[in-house]
Amino acid sequence: MPGPDAASAGAAGVNPAAELDRARAGDARALARLLSLVEDGSPRARSVIRDLLPRTGGARVIGLTGAPGVGKSTTAAALVGAFRAAGRRVAVLAVDPTSPFTGGALLGDRVRMQEHATDDQVFIRSMASRGHLGGLAASTPQAIRVLDAAGFELILVETVGVGQAEVAVASLSDSVVVLLAPGLGDAIQAAKAGILEVADLFVVNKADKPDSHQVVRDLRNMLALGHHEPGAWKPPIITAVATGGLRDPGIIELEGALDAHWSWLRSSGELERRRRERAREEITALAFAELRARLAADGVDDLAARVAAGTLDPFQAAEDLLARHV
Ligand code: GDP
Repeated sequence: MPGPDAASAGAAGVNPAAELDRARAGDARALARLLSLVEDGSPRARSVIRDLLPRTGGARVIGLTGAPGVGKSTTAAALVGAFRAAGRRVAVLAVDPTSPFTGGALLGDRVRMQEHATDDQVFIRSMASRGHLGGLAASTPQAIRVLDAAGFELILVETVGVGQAEVAVASLSDSVVVLLAPGLGDAIQAAKAGILEVADLFVVNKADKPDSHQVVRDLRNMLALGHHEPGAWKPPIITAVATGGLRDPGIIELEGALDAHWSWLRSSGELERRRRERAREEITALAFAELRARLAADGVDDLAARVAAGTLDPFQAAEDLLARHV
């Protein structure tokens, strides 16, 4: 029987098939070890992912995005409460592409998640980008796969951090929830950041604040400018007070809207399309990372000297370089 020593042995001592069985039975430490294995990009990660693959595809991935402070964490915690009330097993992945830190203790289990900390049907994990082959674009899908294979029906992916991360979550998710709030991440800022386009659902959070009506109005106006295909999904705008948790009608409405979006994804064929797109991005990120590593190892000195001396044009040099490696 593996005791605490097996845990401290780290990824090297992990038996993936046995760990997955334990993780499926609700053993959070076994799941954490499996996640570490795929996150640190160890050579064994590849075989682990290959072995898990047949058990994946069942989970729904829900992305929560928006500017810092809009209430993503609070909404995630409230949604976890709603899902748990319905008896569903749920995992939360807090993804921070700007932070060098990783591990369960830093982001994912921030204060607002504490109420779920003792529920063994809820698993919370944070991820950061440093050290991953291909960065988060490559490593987050692996973590999602592990959670999926471990039997979580719902996986919430919450971005921490700003800018690209807000949009990047879209390519990982089946449903994307974009959060706005008065004063923070209002509709105009969101439009500038390009996150309106990726939304399947909007939440205007902090509806207890008077300016929230203005955020809803601005958002409606901006969405009215966009083109809407007949038969396409029309992103609903839900107003919420996430701090109200399960007592807030907005959170219950969000849960219902997510279920409706899931039904639409499945019946329209969009789910399959999105998952293929997700796989495409993942493959490309891995291939780029591999190529970058090969090019970096090469040195390129000879080509650089000739380009600098004016005896070789840079386009030809780039082509020569690729020809050596691809
Ligand atoms: P995140 O950075 O997007 O994850 O935002 P947080 O969930 O950490 O919330 C930022 C702050 O806003 C916290 O102090 C929350 O308590 C507060 N907050 C979240 N939701 C609401 C809400 O509905 N109304 C009000 N008034 N405050 C809220």
